[in-house]
Amino acid sequence: MPARPADIPSVDRVLRLPGLQPLLDRYGRVPATSALRRLLDMLRAQAVTGQLTRQAIGDDALCAALATQLARDAQPRLRAVFNLTGTVLHTNLGRALLPDSAVQAVMRAMTTPANLEFDLGTGGRGDRDDLVDDLLCELTGAQAATVVNNNAAAVLLMLNTLAQRREVVVSRGELVEIGGAFRIPDVMQRAGVKLVEIGTTNRTHPHDYANAVGARTALLMKVHCSNYEITGFTRSVEVAEVARIAQPLGLPVVVDLGSGTLSDLTQWGLPRETTVRDTIAAGADLVTFSGDKLLGGPQAGLIVGRADLIAKIKKNPLKRALRVGKLTLAALEPVLRLYRDPDTLAQSLPTLRLLTRPASEMASMADRLLPWLQAPLGDGWQVAAVAMVSQIGSGAMPGGQLASFGLVIGPRDAGKRSGRRLQQLEAALRALPRPVIGRVSENALWLDLRCLEAADEAAFTAQWPLLAEALRL
Ligand SMILES: *Cc1c(COP(=O)(O)O)cnc(C)c1O
Repeated sequence: MPARPADIPSVDRVLRLPGLQPLLDRYGRVPATSALRRLLDMLRAQAVTGQLTRQAIGDDALCAALATQLARDAQPRLRAVFNLTGTVLHTNLGRALLPDSAVQAVMRAMTTPANLEFDLGTGGRGDRDDLVDDLLCELTGAQAATVVNNNAAAVLLMLNTLAQRREVVVSRGELVEIGGAFRIPDVMQRAGVKLVEIGTTNRTHPHDYANAVGARTALLMKVHCSNYEITGFTRSVEVAEVARIAQPLGLPVVVDLGSGTLSDLTQWGLPRETTVRDTIAAGADLVTFSGDKLLGGPQAGLIVGRADLIAKIKKNPLKRALRVGKLTLAALEPVLRLYRDPDTLAQSLPTLRLLTRPASEMASMADRLLPWLQAPLGDGWQVAAVAMVSQIGSGAMPGGQLASFGLVIGPRDAGKRSGRRLQQLEAALRALPRPVIGRVSENALWLDLRCLEAADEAAFTAQWPLLAEALRL
């Protein structure tokens, strides 16, 4: 016999159940009561359609259901996950991880007053950019610097300040779209700038720049091809060459460098990527780049270059709308300081530490973890430790790849339902208290161990009994 709507107990009656008292104490009377109302409403709706069993409205069942709901509600929305995607700077998983010195500085800034815009020397008003601009100049060779919310904001602000109602020349091969709706032509439009496209998708020549310049030209712009490569019959014009064309005409050359690294990555055996310093030295008047990509800091957009142009940018009212908060500056300063000592950077900066982790370390970890994982998965699944390739991510070196190692889980019999079972496994890993995010490819789930550091290994394996439980259901 299914339960009828009239059988559903009242809120007051359930609230008096002895089994409910611990939940009231733990979560508070008001949140627990409102969760109970929602639960009883839902059960009533089920009863109306004749789909509610009598057991579901027993005292113990109600307490258990409420406990589950309250626990779910109390879970933070922003949660720690294991990034086993193989992409180190994963935009959807929050990009760069911060070093401890930055974490401490952010905590201090959150809990104590600080001289954010207060000049301790004179007692007068200060400028928040002063906290980091000399460090940025030291590390890039630029004359001046300013900081905004992210690189998209940096590009918008730069274009709006220096080229509103005028023309900006960009090669067709560099009209980039970054994931998450950042497109150079659209940003230009919103900045109030007219885009003048030159060259073709695969080839742009120096004379294309020279021919495009007219009375309304404000800037020549170059954009880093962050997430794609044009190969084959190609030609692009280096920053130095564009600068040679622009200089006699009195036009600034600006570069959106995207990821923008501050040090030569080849010293750690990583693929070569143009540094901000190289770009300034080649003659760029302004360079913009992200704080949370290869730099390894907090989300921010950095603009460095000629002092007169930076001064103009800082006077734009949009700067006030796009500025960074104190937590960002608190995190950025210690990260930049780490760059002063390149000898220790590969250990002190988490992003670089992950990028330079030797494959042998991930290989021995894979061997260690394999039996831990095979046991809860059971006979239906085959786990193998295999070599794989990680990506830097966030548009750094789309072609550059890093030798890594990890675990591949595939259904033992590749039957009709194996695709569905794989989806279930992937979902079960995502549903763990600390979700495990891998990558499904070639009818298997790939877990790249590059971003699982030794300190997190125990937390990782501790979840396997829960996985076994989830898969048995
Ligand atoms: C990533 C990127 C951006 C956007 O930077 P955010 O910091 O994510 O706003 C802009 N331009 C290029 C070339 C990029 O690679």
